[in-house]
Amino acid sequence: MNTKTSSTRPARVFCIANQKGGVGKTTTAINLAAGLATHGRRVLLIDLDPQGNATMGSGIDKSTLQSTLYDVLIGDASIEQARVRSDAGGYDVLPANRELSGAEIDLVNMEARERQLKAAIGAVASQYDFVLIDCPPTLSLLTLNGLAAAHGVIIPMQCEYFALEGLSDLVNTIKRVHRNINEDLSFIGLLRVMFDPRMTLQQQVSAQLESHFGDKVFTTVIPRNVRLAEAPSYGLPGVVYDKASRGAQAYISFGAEMVKRVEAMD
Ligand code: ATP
Ligand code: MG
Repeated sequence: MNTKTSSTRPARVFCIANQKGGVGKTTTAINLAAGLATHGRRVLLIDLDPQGNATMGSGIDKSTLQSTLYDVLIGDASIEQARVRSDAGGYDVLPANRELSGAEIDLVNMEARERQLKAAIGAVASQYDFVLIDCPPTLSLLTLNGLAAAHGVIIPMQCEYFALEGLSDLVNTIKRVHRNINEDLSFIGLLRVMFDPRMTLQQQVSAQLESHFGDKVFTTVIPRNVRLAEAPSYGLPGVVYDKASRGAQAYISFGAEMVKRVEAMD
């Protein structure tokens, strides 16, 4: 029997990644964080994107920050110094803004440049059950820092004709990082998002994903739901903005599925 409890094991770290833009990474990161919080889990959400959407969507003003993930990556601040509480979401945020785009250049000349984030997370890992990293839509040095720090990658994708295109690049990158930088890293799964069951094509692609990737496809499916899209303009996770909505309920279910997956990893 497994006697470990969530409070004694260091946090499990997950990247939400897909180098395609606008596929629902940030929506997934914010709402999974809030969903896990509703299940009583302690969560740190790291905004690894200079767009700062995960920061803003968690109700934190990216233009008035004392320190950010940028300062952490270049070694000028610790996560404890830079993190901010999302009161709305019930989780902590390591925020980002445009300054983070400069980290790409600053990191190039640093030793162990792809391991900066991992080292910083190590110092706070015992304070959380989950660390979620919202990756930018690139396979850049920033994303590499995320992958180097993670146990698993969650890939949100829309069930569209071109959805599989580019997926092999990401899966190959994950394999390379696993081989060369981070042997703890695994591809946890594909999350179907913005799903519209009335579209025959989406059903076909969804079935194709299941037959090709098997149990690497999460059981939970996130529907297309306007409440999820409205929520960020109020600085709230969709899960908090309208908890009864179909989108919010799906992300709460996804949180439960992740809790189960993590328990199975122990
Ligand atoms: P980027 O690559 O720019 O970081 P992203 O992959 O993080 O984008 P999001 O910002 O999460 O994608 O989502 C893109 C757009 O789709 C946003 O306007 C968001 O509100 C909307 N959206 C995401 N998921 C859903 C959903 N399930 N239902 C309806 N709208 C959604
Ligand atoms: Mg995003």
